[in-house]
Amino acid sequence: MGIPFVMHECIDTYAKRIKTLSHLARTTATGLHAGFGIKLAYKSWMRKGGELETGLFHEQASSFYKEGSAHMLAARFYGHGQPLRVEEVPAPVLGPLDAMVRIRSCGICGSDIHIVFDNTTKTACLPITLGHEVAGDVVEVGPGTSSHWLGKRVIVVPDIGCGECVNCIKGHIELCVDRKMIGIHRDGGLAELIRVPSGNLVAIPDSISYDEAAISTDALATPYHAISQVAHFKSGRSAAVIGTGALAYHAVKILKALGASTILAYGHHANSLQRMLECGAQRGTFELGDGDAFSRKIDFVFDFQGTTESSRTAFNLVRPGGKIVLIGLGSGDLDLPINPIVRSGIQILGAYGANCGDLRELFALIQEGRLDVTASVSSTYSLEDVNLALEHSRSKKNNPIRIVVHPSD
Ligand SMILES: [Zn+2]
Ligand SMILES: [Zn+2]
Repeated sequence: MGIPFVMHECIDTYAKRIKTLSHLARTTATGLHAGFGIKLAYKSWMRKGGELETGLFHEQASSFYKEGSAHMLAARFYGHGQPLRVEEVPAPVLGPLDAMVRIRSCGICGSDIHIVFDNTTKTACLPITLGHEVAGDVVEVGPGTSSHWLGKRVIVVPDIGCGECVNCIKGHIELCVDRKMIGIHRDGGLAELIRVPSGNLVAIPDSISYDEAAISTDALATPYHAISQVAHFKSGRSAAVIGTGALAYHAVKILKALGASTILAYGHHANSLQRMLECGAQRGTFELGDGDAFSRKIDFVFDFQGTTESSRTAFNLVRPGGKIVLIGLGSGDLDLPINPIVRSGIQILGAYGANCGDLRELFALIQEGRLDVTASVSSTYSLEDVNLALEHSRSKKNNPIRIVVHPSD
């Protein structure tokens, strides 16, 4: 039997962190209990010319990919156009630096719709458990993971970094040169349990529900990262948001919370646009003339649509010296005039994903009462009804903001 894809990834990660493992081995014999693959990490480390300070790594460490004895339910994706199969699978086996999370809530993202129905986003392997907006309880930790996590309510930051590249070292795992994502490259959150690196955990404050926390990991954190970390948005400045999906909706709410003086909203979905206007945005029109009141006046433009139309609108709105931040993954290429961009010093930036720091800041905003996301979870489904949840999310019946699944109910 070949080593599964996920195992290659784990072995490599552990090899890179072998110094932590060797510390572990020195400090606790229980750190070598069966099923944790330290031997494999050791071999990989040695192949790379590493040196060990201790000889404690030996036969006590059994095969990493030994199946666990426990089982769980998971919603498995077998291919585009097919419903997910809710089936019993072996429970994950922890590595030393991992934590096991019992999943209380998992959001359904537009990316899941692209995977299941559109085939425009592809998973790294099949079958795979989908879901990357995860909140739950830590029920077990690996021997290299602090026991303080046990019993904690947590979210899982979906991007997993290599831990070694320049971006990971700076804390930007969302830009890791070898980035992996749960629910795309490895098993995700539409299951009762998930195994994740403990470095991807962020504690959920008591006042925030599992559902609110789950959708924070992407539907809130992605626009927050774009606004706060990429654009460095400042209170009192003007902003425009193009697009009407959950990320754009939350962008309006976040900009309001951060003190935007003016927020313009642009989109084609009337009901969703109305929802953004009710949050304090003003309606904008895509067809901007030179005489438009906001033409070349806006400090920050956030484009969640990612089309030629939206990028043109962004360009017509942004003031000289202003910033256009691209978040939407539309198809096609940008078609913008180079001369005016250069002469006006316009900055065009890409923003992708989020990191642990973004989540902590977001939770603080919610806790302080500056950002209210209680209305953002439109409906909940059991794991057995996961295909109904996906269909509801795709059809947008009753105009949902975010739909979540409760795998452990
Ligand atoms: Zn997503
Ligand atoms: Zn990295």
